Formats: sequence, C-alpha cells, structure tokens
Amino acid sequence: MPCRTLVLLGGVMFKYIKKCALKTLQSNNISEFPIPIYAIEQIIIDHYFDIVIIPTLRKSCVFDQTLFVANLPDTEFRISLAHELGHILMHDFFIHSSRFEAQANAFAAYFLMPPSMFEGDLKQLNEWDLAEKYGVPVESIIKRAALITELSNKEMRIF
Ligand SMILES: [Zn+2]
Repeated sequence: MPCRTLVLLGGVMFKYIKKCALKTLQSNNISEFPIPIYAIEQIIIDHYFDIVIIPTLRKSCVFDQTLFVANLPDTEFRISLAHELGHILMHDFFIHSSRFEAQANAFAAYFLMPPSMFEGDLKQLNEWDLAEKYGVPVESIIKRAALITELSNKEMRIF
C-alpha cells in the first residue's frame, strides 16, 4: 500500500515516514533482522517493479517499472533496495529532488532499523555489533542514531 503524502515537512514528515516504514514491516510480516534481501525484493516485486542487477552500475536507478541496481555487497545492497522501496511507496519517480532523496533515506533507515528495537539496542551494543545485527554498513548505523536526535530539525541534513 503506497504512503503518498509529500507536502509534509520537518518533524511531521519524519513521523510520517517512520509510520510508513513500520506499516510496511507489519503488513509484510517482517520480524527477522537483518531483513533478508529476498524479503525486500519481494515487496518491490509486489509493487509491480522488476529488479535487474547490473554489475557495472554505480548507483541504483529506476526506469519505467524496472529497478536497476548495482552489484553491491549485501550490506549496501540492503540499504539500496530499502531506499528504492521508499521511493516506490512514497514518490512518483519522474520527480527528482534532494528532499525526496532524504525521505527515501529516512524510510530505509526506519525500515531496516525500526525505532523501538534500534533504540533499545543502541543502549547495549556498539556500532559494529549494530551493523552486524541489522546487516548494514557502520556509516548507516551512525546516520540512523543521528536521526533520533535530528527528528525535530526542519530538514534532514545528515544524509
Ligand atoms: Zn533515491
């Protein structure tokens, strides 16, 4: 189910994206972390997109109903797929803007590292253990942790 509401800004926007990510986890019965890559691919396919892996590609992109992704290590591939899923659920692809990129990044962060679980883990695990648990690069853990304190900012600057 798409989550299209794009006029939202700042804290309200973050709350909305968080809700969209949680709804997507729930409606797809995802409770395993790291989220298996095939599970993310399945949600994308369920939204009528094909996924094509192109080894020479630097950055993932979408053309028509096809998502072209680079052949990345699993941790980066997971982030990349979740980012594109954010676009699929929230955006029309013909519009490109840095705001949409920030929103897709926030979606990926909340989706791969859901708030209650991540915030609990943050108290007990270091960034390397967190990266292992959620199957993402360490930089993504740092950005995700920053998202907790950046929530009240007008625009997300950390990505
Ligand atoms: Zn993007």
